Amino acid sequence: PQLDQQSVLITGGASGLGRAIVARFLAEGAHVTILDRNADALAEMEREYEGRVAGLIGDVRSLAANEAAVSLACDRFGKLDCLIANAGIWDYDVSLVDLPASAIDAAFDELFSINTKGSLLAMKAATPALVRATGSIILTLSNAAFYPGGGGMLYTASKHANLGLMRQAAYELAPSVRVNAVAPGAIATNLRGLATLGQDKRAIGSDLPLEEYLKVGVPLARLPDVAEFTGAYVLLASRKDGAVATGAVIQIDGGIGVRGLAGVSGGTSLAERFAE
Ligand code: NAD
Repeated sequence: PQLDQQSVLITGGASGLGRAIVARFLAEGAHVTILDRNADALAEMEREYEGRVAGLIGDVRSLAANEAAVSLACDRFGKLDCLIANAGIWDYDVSLVDLPASAIDAAFDELFSINTKGSLLAMKAATPALVRATGSIILTLSNAAFYPGGGGMLYTASKHANLGLMRQAAYELAPSVRVNAVAPGAIATNLRGLATLGQDKRAIGSDLPLEEYLKVGVPLARLPDVAEFTGAYVLLASRKDGAVATGAVIQIDGGIGVRGLAGVSGGTSLAERFAE
C-alpha cells in the first residue's frame, strides 16, 4: 500500500470521482474523512467501510463545515495528511449570450461559491493540521482549467481560478505542504448543474452522450472508467513517489491538448500496420 496510515479528507467524496478516490485510497491503506451534502450516500459509505471512513454532512460553502471536517479527521484518525478539494458542480455549457439576465448574479454566486470558494475554505481550514503533518493538498480541476468548450463561462472560469488557488498555495505553503492538482477529462458521474438555472436534477453521466463525444473528440478515443483517474491522486498524495511534486497538474483527459488537424488521433492505422 502506498498511503499506509495516511489520514485524508476529501470534499465531495460521496459520489462519482470522489467516491472512486475514497475506494482507491482505502485500498492503499488510508483512512478517509468525507465532507459532502449527500447524507444518504455518506451513511451508506460509513456502513460499507465501517471504521475506516468518517462522514460529515455539510456544505463546502461554509468555513465552519470545513473546519468541522478537519476536526473530525484529526479526532478520528489522529492527524491530517492530505486534503482533496474535489466537490463541484457544472453549468451545462451555458454560454454568455444564453445566461439569463435575471439569474446571472445568482448563477455566478452559486457556481463560484461551490467550486472556487469551497476549495479556498477547505484549504484554509486544513492548512494548520497539514503543516503539522508535513502533508499535501490536491485540487480536482478539469480540462476546463486549460481549454474552452468543456463547460460554459462560469464553469470554465471557476476551474481556471482553481488553478490559481493551487499555484498560489503551492508557493505560500512550501516547503511545509505540497500543493498539486489533477485535471480529469469527461467522466460519466452524477455531476450536477446549477440550482439557480434549474439544472440541479440533471447529471452529466446520464444526460450527455459522453462516450460519443470522446470517441471522435480526443486522441485516446474512449470514455474512461472513473477508477482510471484515481492513480493520479495516489501519486500526488504519496510521500515517496510524490515527494518532489508541488505546483504540478496531472492532466488526464485522453489527450485534448495533442489533438491533430487532419485527424484527432495521428496513429489510427498503426495497429493494422504492425499486426503480426
Ligand atoms: P458528482 O456529482 O458525482 O460528485 C460530486 C460530489 O460533490 C457529490 O457527492 C455532491 O453531493 C458533492 N457536492 C456538490 N456540491 C456540494 C456542496 N456545496 N457541499 C458539499 N458537497 C457538495 O460529480 P463528479 O463528476 O464526481 O465531480 C467531482 C469533481 O470532478 C468536480 O470538481 C468536477 O468539477 C470535477 N470534474 C468532473 C468531470 C466530469 O466529467 N464528471 C470532469 C472534470 C472534472
